[in-house]
Amino acid sequence: MPELPDVETFRKYVDFTSLHKKITDVLVENKKILDNISQTQLEKKLKNNKFICTYRHGKYLFIKTNEEGWLVIHFGMTGYLKYFRHKEDQPKHTRLLITFENGFHLAFNNQRLFGKIGFTFSVEQYLQDKNVGVDALDIKNITFENTLKKSKVKIKSMLMNQKLIAGIGNIYADEILFQSKIHPETRAADLNKNKLNNLFKRMKEVLNVAIDAKADPENFPSDYLMPHRYKKEVCPKGDEQLKTIKVNGRTTYYCPVHQKK
Ligand SMILES: [Zn+2]
Repeated sequence: MPELPDVETFRKYVDFTSLHKKITDVLVENKKILDNISQTQLEKKLKNNKFICTYRHGKYLFIKTNEEGWLVIHFGMTGYLKYFRHKEDQPKHTRLLITFENGFHLAFNNQRLFGKIGFTFSVEQYLQDKNVGVDALDIKNITFENTLKKSKVKIKSMLMNQKLIAGIGNIYADEILFQSKIHPETRAADLNKNKLNNLFKRMKEVLNVAIDAKADPENFPSDYLMPHRYKKEVCPKGDEQLKTIKVNGRTTYYCPVHQKK
């Protein structure tokens, strides 16, 4: 599922491919993805206009048009963007297809239809309406500490709660806790100030490393959990077997030696 580093990678991709080109056609292939706008309205907002800049908050990508307003993309479980010229390169589950005057297209592919396309005149208002918390890269240490320190909820659930901290999902929560040497089921209130400080630093570090790696597991440092989590391998910081448990119904990888309860 696209999390903050993935969405940041898509944002840069849009910057690199799709700005300042006249939009000549807009095709909604499946209306289920439309959030707060009709197909006709969306076409009207985009057609004959250009995208001029991008913004990301949490797992949301905003793309500004030269007229007022922003196209909003939430990638859901499996969404991604692809810029291409030839029809045969179009992804199989394209739900929105934008065509530019240079003959290229930008496709929003979303196999499982959990993604959303919306439109807003105010990013701030949109995030407020969706009850989205502070972006994980923007949150200040003091806010982070105050948010977590009194909670009896498991730390992994706290990190993944988009209303508190926006951008972290299942995979990066595991990585952040692994790098912080904190067991995912630890209650937030049981972490002392030092541990919370360290968690805060590791959170920013992991997200920045992931952005630099273009969110591709193959580019991650060798002592990261990410490239090992799908294979039930040994801990990249030792030689013990990684374990899995369910936290809030989500499969959680951790090291039983480095992340003691
Ligand atoms: Zn370990």
